[in-house]
Amino acid sequence: MTSQTLDVRFRIRLRPGRERSVELRHPWLFSGAVEEIEALPDAVPGDVGDIVSSDGRFLARGTVHPSSQIVSRLLTWRDEPIDEAFFAARIDQAIELRKGLLTSHRTNACRIVNSEGDELPGLVVDRYHQHLSVQTLTAGMVRARDIWLGLLLERLSPLGVIERGDNSAREEIDAEPGQVLHGLVPSEPILIQENGLPFRVDLFGGQKTGFYLDQRDNRALVGSDCAHLDLLNLFGFTGGFSIYAADGGAERVVQVDSSGPAHELARQNWELNGLPESRLTLVEQDAFRFVRESDDLFDRLILDPPPLARSRQSLDSALRAYKDLHLWSFCRARPNAEIFTFSCSQHVTPDLFQKVVFGAAHDVGARLQWIHRLGPGRDHPVHLNHPQGEYLKGLHLRVLEPGTPPSRKGGTGHDELSGQLDDFGTAERDAGKRPRSRR
Ligand code: SAH
Repeated sequence: MTSQTLDVRFRIRLRPGRERSVELRHPWLFSGAVEEIEALPDAVPGDVGDIVSSDGRFLARGTVHPSSQIVSRLLTWRDEPIDEAFFAARIDQAIELRKGLLTSHRTNACRIVNSEGDELPGLVVDRYHQHLSVQTLTAGMVRARDIWLGLLLERLSPLGVIERGDNSAREEIDAEPGQVLHGLVPSEPILIQENGLPFRVDLFGGQKTGFYLDQRDNRALVGSDCAHLDLLNLFGFTGGFSIYAADGGAERVVQVDSSGPAHELARQNWELNGLPESRLTLVEQDAFRFVRESDDLFDRLILDPPPLARSRQSLDSALRAYKDLHLWSFCRARPNAEIFTFSCSQHVTPDLFQKVVFGAAHDVGARLQWIHRLGPGRDHPVHLNHPQGEYLKGLHLRVLEPGTPPSRKGGTGHDELSGQLDDFGTAERDAGKRPRSRR
């Protein structure tokens, strides 16, 4: 292999007293800390730069996008070349964490590189059996494409590699159509296996890189304990939770999602798993509306919405939407029902999420316990220096006493609730405008 290096073409000098976050090894350098950026004449966004203190001391090295709010994604705090050997060491340490998953006979899809979580900010690599689906979220990772691609081919020998171009998390580069970087990627959905269950995944049209790999362990948890029960899967996508539940013996599965194509694949996945059609009801509807209007009751409920808060500015309306979703769900639960509820909004912290769930329970008079806190599997590590990487959080709840539906609640509390419903209308419209991909 020919050796490739990303030359240092920028030098970013920090304002006096603004070195702290770099010294604490946070991987993002914000423009507010920057005094000046010097660039070689041939420098382009995505090139590597050195971060130096106000008096010129070397602090760190990263990829640079001079006009971005995050001016640099830091890769190393040592004066070392950003070359093939550097990327090889990072990719190998990422593969090492997934060794068990990569050799499993029951699961052949997992995340291989999780951006900042694996010390490769801006690069996400998912394995779907013999294919890789990649997201490049920064100009730096686009610039480094030949290096990481060569290493992935060498180590994982995929039949094909697709780079998804539509990710809304890309701040530095415009959306592009997906492109095949290597080999062949079938245009029809490919077959993967997760915990022994087959699924079809659309690598071109699917959301995220095609499948919500981060929910693998939580799907298994749901599937392990739902024999003979009625399950409601809100925001069900291509049927992940539904199929685990039915495989685990659930009597009846109602899945709600607003996307027709997602449900089409859900139906195919259901069949692929040899499950009887009579046990599945697919409802193509707004899930917020469904819980509000349905009067069906369930023993297990899954609440896995897309990120309702994409920014700090939308946090308030998102929190109202989360609260609304929960308070109505608590009214659709039978006594002893268990609820698996998730938020994948980076701006909603675990504490805040718990408060919203508490507030919703309080408003409809539901009594609840929580059994576990939930998060993604081991292939989605969060770096200790980058707490913002913790986006998926969840609670496994048990309903001791269901909520009383607001309309059947006499007098007190009703005004409070109708206020929330007005607010919720706004949140619902926001939800409709949301970009498709979430994590
Ligand atoms: N639980 C799924 C992933 C859910 S992703 C899994 O394990 O695979 C979020 C899903 O919510 C997407 O399928 C999207 O189509 C759907 N969605 C987004 N807004 C919605 C709304 N208002 N009502 C119903 N579904 C919605």
